[in-house]
Amino acid sequence: MHAPRAFAPPQLPTATQVPLYYRPEYNIRLWGLERLHPFDSCKYEAVFCALRDASLVTADNTVQPALLSEEELQAAHSDAYLRSLESSISIARVAEVPPAACVPSCLLKRNVLQPFRYAARGSIDAAHAALSRGVGINLGGGFHHASREFGHGFCVYNDISMAIWAVRETAPEHEPPLRVMIVDLDAHQGDGHERDFMGDHATHILDCYRPGIFPDARDAMRAIHTSMHFRVGDDGHTFLAELRTKLPAALATFRPHLVVYNAGTDILIGDPLSGLTITAENVVARDELVFECCGYPRVQSVQPTTASGVC
Ligand SMILES: [Zn+2]
Repeated sequence: MHAPRAFAPPQLPTATQVPLYYRPEYNIRLWGLERLHPFDSCKYEAVFCALRDASLVTADNTVQPALLSEEELQAAHSDAYLRSLESSISIARVAEVPPAACVPSCLLKRNVLQPFRYAARGSIDAAHAALSRGVGINLGGGFHHASREFGHGFCVYNDISMAIWAVRETAPEHEPPLRVMIVDLDAHQGDGHERDFMGDHATHILDCYRPGIFPDARDAMRAIHTSMHFRVGDDGHTFLAELRTKLPAALATFRPHLVVYNAGTDILIGDPLSGLTITAENVVARDELVFECCGYPRVQSVQPTTASGVC
């Protein structure tokens, strides 16, 4: 597998900061057009404000990632795909907001692509923080439908793949490479990282998704090592019972150095993207279970997304 070697050194938390990454530029605002998508493109701000209002974080004790560079984009994506993002039509397709195709591409780059670039850099930095601090959390990212060659489903850049490539790049002493487990508990199949790590024996993918809904990428499913399915009508207890069995078994067998956890919450009851019936309490129990199984803080883990769903 091609291993990019172009990622900038990470921005790690200072002694007075917690390993939580967020900046206001994560949020996507497009003069109201963004509301045409069922996804809340400003949810990152809502999550940060909720944490701040609960006196859990401040703007000063969290980390604001830099903008992902052009060189980093070129390391993670094909030239053809990046060239396609010069077009408003392509950006509108990936963002799933067709009317945005009428907006000049320079504005879409600033208002749509730039937020994805900040959030992707946050995932990279959070992965590094996980290896050095035991945990790293990014309030954005989790763009699990994007791969090196392709983006869709509101996922422009493959931040999960970038995070794994970046930490491996700075850990050359690991031969074979760092073992990384992707735990993807969003309602949808993570076809992007599955395409990027197809056949990579150092990456174990545990994916729980609802079959038959987007993206239903049969080719990418071959990359899944531990598969779980959300079924319509199942309650959270059924899902949690299966996770409680399969996640520890996968961890014990694979023994990862790093866990990348995509904590999508579009599994929540009432979410139009998934049609599932998982309660908020179930989601909290899910996240606690993942951290507990990872032995936090003894085993490193990174959470590209928290508290609000990703596709
Ligand atoms: Zn999703």
